[in-house]
Amino acid sequence: MGGRPVIELRWDPTLGEWVLVSAIREERPWHPRHACPFCPGGGETGRGWDVLIIENRYPVLKPDPPEPSTHNFYGTQKSIGRCYVVIETPEHGLDDISDLPVEHIVKVVNAVRGKVVEASKQARATYLLWFRNKGEEVGVSLTHPHSQVYVTPFIPSKVLRELSNSLKYWRSTGRCLFCTILRAEVSDDVRVVFRNSSWVAFIPFYAHWPFEVHIYPRRHVQLLTQLSRGEVKGFAEALKTVLCGFKNLFRRPMPYVFALHQAPLRGSYPHYHLHLEIYGMFRSTGLLKYAGGMELGGGNFTYDSTPEANAELLRRALSRCA
Ligand SMILES: [Zn+2]
Ligand SMILES: [Zn+2]
Ligand SMILES: [Zn+2]
Repeated sequence: MGGRPVIELRWDPTLGEWVLVSAIREERPWHPRHACPFCPGGGETGRGWDVLIIENRYPVLKPDPPEPSTHNFYGTQKSIGRCYVVIETPEHGLDDISDLPVEHIVKVVNAVRGKVVEASKQARATYLLWFRNKGEEVGVSLTHPHSQVYVTPFIPSKVLRELSNSLKYWRSTGRCLFCTILRAEVSDDVRVVFRNSSWVAFIPFYAHWPFEVHIYPRRHVQLLTQLSRGEVKGFAEALKTVLCGFKNLFRRPMPYVFALHQAPLRGSYPHYHLHLEIYGMFRSTGLLKYAGGMELGGGNFTYDSTPEANAELLRRALSRCA
């Protein structure tokens, strides 16, 4: 090795999943000393935009990656793909995506949707994950509002498990697992935190993180590109409201991660159902929930309090949102 920094996928044969190795990431600045690289007028950003998607300068996946290392036992694969940064607004000082008007969040969603269209035409592009990390607690180094898009050559493990379980359910009952979950949540009503004509947001019965909110479209759709204009607007409204509630819950805004789960870019997955998962990481006491021994070591979550009680707290917090 030596020369170019290593960037490759390494296969974990015990868990059966890929690890994205990138030595390029080591050079990543924590708080950049100079100007914000996401503000308008920078070398990569230019001017005259509302939402801008640029290549991530510290990628874990590249369109032209070097050959991976070879090993007499372990498996590797080229880190072929894309890593983008979605700069959600030119305004540096906003705290969160929820501070943007609904119409502007619609523009963000449509920009990501454009990447889904683009990625579906790229050879080797298998999956597009849109995600957002918020808060120093989850390692966010740049505060300028942004999210990220990874186009991967494999289906992420969590989505793969959902695809497999929802296929089993589809085959044994003829029904969509997610439509059934949605019906159960709406019928129980105690964990629903927000609803409009096209979306429902709830803390699922089986939530892992304390304030884990799932936002489901009422219609059975698989990809971001299948949403109607009205559904995109309804989604922006649901996202804004839930994240505004996260701000109001405690004295400090809640750190969170969200990820959009949609079907893979190619192939047919009629049993799958697009949804957004938000992992709000404060416990009901306002203290950070860490993934500890049971979570990291065992792979199962412990839940302090109940999803029903936390949904009640969140409903109260988001009733104070304009
Ligand atoms: Zn900035
Ligand atoms: Zn469904
Ligand atoms: Zn999911």
